[in-house]
Amino acid sequence: MRQTLIVANWKMYKTLSEAEEFVERFPGEIAGISGIETVICASFTSLARLSVLTEKTTILLGAQNMHWQKEGAFTGEISPLMLRDLCVKYVIIGHSERRQYFGETDEIINKKVSAALKNHLIPILCVGETWDERKQGRTFLVLNQQILFGLQSIDNEKLSSIVVAYEPVWAIGTGKSANKEQVQEVHAYLRDVIKEFTSSNEMAFNIRILYGGSMSPKNAQEILSLKDVDGGLIGGASLKIDSFSSLVQIAESVQKVKEQ
Ligand code: PEP
Repeated sequence: MRQTLIVANWKMYKTLSEAEEFVERFPGEIAGISGIETVICASFTSLARLSVLTEKTTILLGAQNMHWQKEGAFTGEISPLMLRDLCVKYVIIGHSERRQYFGETDEIINKKVSAALKNHLIPILCVGETWDERKQGRTFLVLNQQILFGLQSIDNEKLSSIVVAYEPVWAIGTGKSANKEQVQEVHAYLRDVIKEFTSSNEMAFNIRILYGGSMSPKNAQEILSLKDVDGGLIGGASLKIDSFSSLVQIAESVQKVKEQ
């Protein structure tokens, strides 16, 4: 059984004091919830402090990006080693905002996924089509390429811990999520692509595939209940304690039903 993963992507929101305030209160809001892995991907400026504040809680930390080298003359970049040092466990790689605004290519993303795994960080590899690509009937082609290039030359042993996030670009931050048929269809497809890529049914079955794109307490139950959905990557609705804790609660109730 795949463990449900609920990941907050705070993007470029929250100053250090705002992040501290959230993390001081949030564990109390989800006390008693079990079986759900809850991750907060905060900005680099908050991670050091949050690693202290989350030490005795069930909250795990994630970063939103990283460089692929361990160290070097790369002004303004953050290395996997630096993240490990702060007890960061997850790192989002290839978010569509990074592809779109910072020119991240599949080649760069592949280097980052590989570096994360080498440095014992769990990459959350984001894939997703734009609205134009969907309209042109290219959704599966685009996703196939993003997955195959993103995972290129990474061996099965390392790949087993990876997390994939399906984030249709047109659903991010728009308040309009993909519908349940679209989500299940893509998640099943991604699992098939992974099965072919790894030649392993077991690996494809065990890899967690998250949905991201305007997930909120209103639509979470329906999306998380889908057979091939193993959690959510959440932007806007992760910024408020009320909505993020509701999402974790919904995930717990869905996971219980799935376990039956
Ligand atoms: C995201 O940025 O990863 C995301 C899913 O954002 P939102 O939930 O706001 O659509």
